[in-house]
Amino acid sequence: MKKLGLYIHIPFCIQKCRYCDFYSVPTNAGVPDEYLEALYKHMDEYGLQTQEYCVDTVFLGGGTPSLLTEKQMASLFKKIYRDFNVAKKAEITVEANPGTIDKNKLRAYLKAGINRLSLGVQSFCGGDLGVCGRIHGVNENIEAFRIARDAGFSNISMDIMFGLPDQTMADIVSTLNTVFKLSPEHISFYGLKIEEGTPFHDMRDSLSLPNEDSESEMYFVSRELMQQNGYFQYEISNFAKKNKFCRHNVKYWNGDEYLGVGPAAHSYFSGKRFSFKRDLGLYIDSFSENGAQEGIIDEMIDIPPSARVAEYVMLRMRLSDGIDCEKFHKLFGRDFDSLYYEKIRPYISSGHILRTEKGYAFSPDGMYVSNYILSRIIDFDMTIPGA
Ligand code: SF4
Repeated sequence: MKKLGLYIHIPFCIQKCRYCDFYSVPTNAGVPDEYLEALYKHMDEYGLQTQEYCVDTVFLGGGTPSLLTEKQMASLFKKIYRDFNVAKKAEITVEANPGTIDKNKLRAYLKAGINRLSLGVQSFCGGDLGVCGRIHGVNENIEAFRIARDAGFSNISMDIMFGLPDQTMADIVSTLNTVFKLSPEHISFYGLKIEEGTPFHDMRDSLSLPNEDSESEMYFVSRELMQQNGYFQYEISNFAKKNKFCRHNVKYWNGDEYLGVGPAAHSYFSGKRFSFKRDLGLYIDSFSENGAQEGIIDEMIDIPPSARVAEYVMLRMRLSDGIDCEKFHKLFGRDFDSLYYEKIRPYISSGHILRTEKGYAFSPDGMYVSNYILSRIIDFDMTIPGA
């Protein structure tokens, strides 16, 4: 059976964080049942289209999926198991905001089938959390981790941010030292980006952000500390203990198939990339009795074979093991060196790209500037004979 990742978007948050441009609607009323009903109708359709697939990863992202009550989560997973062939050892992740969980809820989540928790702690310095407009403080972060462990979660990830306004190197080191003491299995370590349409974008001239040198120092010192503490960097922003990579996210970087449900969700399925509009009302209406789903598609791209090659290189190079030339040949029937060697040669000379046993990968310095390098070596319009 072919493998498939399933992504479910829960577009509700108690309040918007000042940096966030993910699609979510602020609410104090939890997740409305009418949203779940729309999701279920959408899943009915996908269930029929994916009978020859085995779902080996499920990811509930947001927004704040941990706003789902115990009852709602149980009902959602009953539906998932009814509609899809979920693998016995599937990785099933839920993103949780530390301000929205308690032990009973987490026990119920485990019972529903969830086996991985991604905690959005972001920082263990109170000042960072306040400046970002998070709804939780440092104590709640620590408590959230403890109750997750007590409830029985043995696979926990933490999101940590760097490059925040007024954040210092000492703040980052102090945050990481708390992370190491708690010892989650996985760390997602993201640099702040000021996105248009966010409060931080409106405040950008008055924010005291670290300069480029301080930001790169934060990244490299943190990377070193995480490695010294047993976290292997398997992707630009992701670090994990042995065998604890996020299998769902690795699908994105491998170019594997996944389906997303919910407004703003993205999919890559049957050679097409598509996404749904960032419009909750439209999404719910389109799955109502007389609704029509055509209007919810935001983008639908049929990826031509030549672009698939470029896309694969762009995504795979994010991973620390980079490109395996033999595998590349098996996938595309083309020699990686003959297509890319001349383009990557300057970066091999500068030490940003390394030769590995099986092919090529970014060095640590290269990973930090990988977006720039990839923009120089990838050409989506490149004509590839036979591709
Ligand atoms: S809780 Fe997460 S999704 Fe919601 S606004 Fe904050 S960062 Fe965005």
